[in-house]
Amino acid sequence: MSILNIKNIHLSIEDKSILKGVSLNVNPGEVHAIMGPNGSGKSTLSYILSGKEGYELSSGNIYFDNNDLLELSANERSNQGLFLAFQYPVELPGVSSMNFLREAVNVRRKFLGKKELNHLEFVKEARRLASSMFIKDEMLKRSVNVGFSGGEKKRFEILQMMLLEPKLAILDETDSGLDVDALKIVSNGVNNYKGKDNAVIVITHYQRLLDYIVPDYVHILADGVIKKSGGPELAKIIEKNGYAGIVDAA
Ligand code: ADP
Ligand code: MG
Repeated sequence: MSILNIKNIHLSIEDKSILKGVSLNVNPGEVHAIMGPNGSGKSTLSYILSGKEGYELSSGNIYFDNNDLLELSANERSNQGLFLAFQYPVELPGVSSMNFLREAVNVRRKFLGKKELNHLEFVKEARRLASSMFIKDEMLKRSVNVGFSGGEKKRFEILQMMLLEPKLAILDETDSGLDVDALKIVSNGVNNYKGKDNAVIVITHYQRLLDYIVPDYVHILADGVIKKSGGPELAKIIEKNGYAGIVDAA
């Protein structure tokens, strides 16, 4: 039974064709990497999955955990266990990070029929996981993402993921702007979350991240289609030769 099944999706924005028939199947326990040159539609794919306005398909289907994803609101998607870490995390001035996380976790727990965590229970759990991401208590008192450095934003995204325990996590350029130490922290977080019942899609245009989060499958998205799929070796080939061979050949 697959977690995510994308079937031949097409999307145009303002008459410009961006995705021209993308299909992808993700099963529990799998890590998929989507690579591709700038502007190839990687973030567009993550926006479609999140239900962002303006990113409605012209054709195709998407099933998440056997539900028609496109029938679900953005909130329902996250309640059901879809998590997206965006390339550009949004700032929420005036919303403390701790409260934001607690609210998000309790909404999901409620949906799952679990007891909501009280403030004390939540803070204990959040601090435990935050320290594994090298996030200090002081940062959790600040407004969500406001004044966070690039690396702090990415670590905060992974903390959210750990707390929410999604079925499917999609990480868009979570490696961008990270130094090696931060990259290791973020990757450790993802590797610890990974399990037989959940799945991860990492979107990246560098191979570097894939040294730390080793994918089962690598897909190359270019010109609106998946040009090639393979194992981790495909990422190494791209690291060495760039996209040219693959993109031109197809
Ligand atoms: P990637 O993440 O692979 O670098 P994107 O998905 O961000 O690429 O963008 C793919 C293409 O779609 C680009 O040409 C981009 O300009 C275009 N695009 C994405 N969103 C919009 C939008 N809201 N309006 C106009 N063009 C868009
Ligand atoms: Mg992008």
